[in-house]
Amino acid sequence: MGRYQNEGAFEAAVDALDNLLTKCPELKATAGKKVEELVKELSLEAKADHAKQAVVSHADTVDPIQKIKKGFQEFKAHFKKEQTLFKALAESQHPKWMIIACADSRVDPAVVLGLELGEAFIIRNIASLVPPHSKESGHSSAGSAIEYAVLHLKVEHIMIIGHSRCGGIKALLGMKEDGSNKFSEYIEDWIGIAKHASKSTMAKCAQDCAFEDQWACCVKEAVNVSLWNCMSYPFVKEGVQQGTLALHGAFFDFVNGAFERWAINYKLEEAEKF
Ligand SMILES: [Zn+2]
Repeated sequence: MGRYQNEGAFEAAVDALDNLLTKCPELKATAGKKVEELVKELSLEAKADHAKQAVVSHADTVDPIQKIKKGFQEFKAHFKKEQTLFKALAESQHPKWMIIACADSRVDPAVVLGLELGEAFIIRNIASLVPPHSKESGHSSAGSAIEYAVLHLKVEHIMIIGHSRCGGIKALLGMKEDGSNKFSEYIEDWIGIAKHASKSTMAKCAQDCAFEDQWACCVKEAVNVSLWNCMSYPFVKEGVQQGTLALHGAFFDFVNGAFERWAINYKLEEAEKF
């Protein structure tokens, strides 16, 4: 490979391939297929690079402090205009939704679903996970938020939203069972909550399934693990049994601008596409 890393490497590689195919023309079909795959792969890389550059150059032109100042000025104008709403919100909140979403900056559920202040009680964490009910696990953040939402705010719906290209779920898929490729102080312990999702994805997806499809499948499986974990909290189970609380899983695909929602009622229901 060494000689191909220098200048003129591409030309040298093409010459070498040309010579080989002159000597062994029977390899032409295989070579054609491999070159076709390479072109496909490089096109995807080029597309991703261009998209990345566009995002970075846009972000570089905006001062982050100015950006939030301008944002708040706009909010203030809205606040002054909607005094009835904000006077009511100053007294209390009555959200119908609790939403559990990923911390990823591209998937803010209020923005995506058009929710106003006061309409959804939201928690966001890596990979939108809910740990099972346990006072010993040390994961009290999600449990306390669910308890408050269900028992005090009396939300009618809990929705857990996974999303396309979730970094947390990609890390989960790459985790070795013996922990030998551990790369962080906190992340693996957290995403390990959904380790069964990784196993069920392997069982569901065919070996030749594209990684992107495996990835999306694992995100949805992780949402289902979190839904069942949600049911392990006694106050959630009771609400579902009494019909005062509904649980939903969802998948937000920001690559294609699509949203799927499904319900859980002791069994998974068919997804509804938005
Ligand atoms: Zn994510």
